[in-house]
Amino acid sequence: MKSALLRCLYISVSVGILCSCAGQRAMHSKGSLPVAASLETHPVASTGDAADDPAVWVHPTDPARSIVIGTNKQRGLMLHAMDGSLIGEVTLPQGSRYNNVDVRYGFPVGSRVLDIVASENRSLNSIDIYGIDPSDPSTHGSPLPLSVGEIIIEAPYDVYGFGLYRSAKTGALFAFVGSKLGRVAQYRIEALEGDRVRGEFVRVLQFDSQVEGIVADDAHGWVFVGEEGRGIWKASAEPDATDAPRLVDEIRPEGPLLRPDVEGLAIYHASERGGYLIASSQGSNEYVVYTREEPHNHLGTFRIAAGVVDDVSETDGIEVTNMPLGGGFPAGAFIAQDGYNDDGLQNFKLVPWPRIAHAFDPPLMINPDFRRR
Ligand code: CA
Ligand code: CA
Ligand code: CA
Ligand code: CA
Ligand code: CA
Repeated sequence: MKSALLRCLYISVSVGILCSCAGQRAMHSKGSLPVAASLETHPVASTGDAADDPAVWVHPTDPARSIVIGTNKQRGLMLHAMDGSLIGEVTLPQGSRYNNVDVRYGFPVGSRVLDIVASENRSLNSIDIYGIDPSDPSTHGSPLPLSVGEIIIEAPYDVYGFGLYRSAKTGALFAFVGSKLGRVAQYRIEALEGDRVRGEFVRVLQFDSQVEGIVADDAHGWVFVGEEGRGIWKASAEPDATDAPRLVDEIRPEGPLLRPDVEGLAIYHASERGGYLIASSQGSNEYVVYTREEPHNHLGTFRIAAGVVDDVSETDGIEVTNMPLGGGFPAGAFIAQDGYNDDGLQNFKLVPWPRIAHAFDPPLMINPDFRRR
């Protein structure tokens, strides 16, 4: 996230509007569709810019026991029940930092089949990998992640930006990890004896500047990468791919779509191969929606306006799921980090997917029945 001063400079220079640096002012482009969140998560326990990226773990049999996982950049992973309350934390030693988090289901590790939760650890320069055993509920009624391994990233590359990829072709599981130097490295995650995993370096995709948002489309075999000041790139995600990344969309001075930074990326699955690619346009406090299938046409842009909870601005990470998450979210949810929470420290806001779908004309697809796990 940019500093308040830089933010105000950016707004006043590029849009020609003066703003008060004392408080945030949500700027957005004409035509973006307002939708309201119905829930916000328990605020992070750290001051300043701390909440960053969400993921959602969908419970195999009881959607209401699903977990919204959020990173606290100063502390670890926060685990939220579907009413937004905090039900657990993965707390790191002081000074350790997680930035982005992602989930994949049903990966065989030793004698068990685990759901994988992974995050990049900016202090240890590693990818930390956790397993959730869906058959092992905790005292909260939802199973909690347990460490199953880590991948150390070799110097001189820092880790910044992260996403998982499960190949539909081979079933293999991969991690893509970014760097402020623009390097995205791919690692294969392999199961070892004794319920542990290891990582093996596969290859590198190189971009010109800082990358963070990463999301893979498992069915199509693509990885999307957000180069924060440039745009959204796409490349084949298979380990033996040699194609050069190509731009899906880029930041243009005249707008009106992506405004720097390009931050979180997420995919709505309406079917095996259909749905939407969504990007957080941090500089305009908006989310840009493209078709999931080529040529990734722009379908519209929405923002999260104030409703029963406050509006959302300066979003870093986003997540979306089509699958039911219980009571308030029978047809999935869009989850966004909020840079300014009106009644506390930073948190995440949840919007029922149908609210977003019905804001569009024609409406976006809604399919809570397509199973990703
Ligand atoms: Ca994520
Ligand atoms: Ca960033
Ligand atoms: Ca971020
Ligand atoms: Ca807010
Ligand atoms: Ca609030």
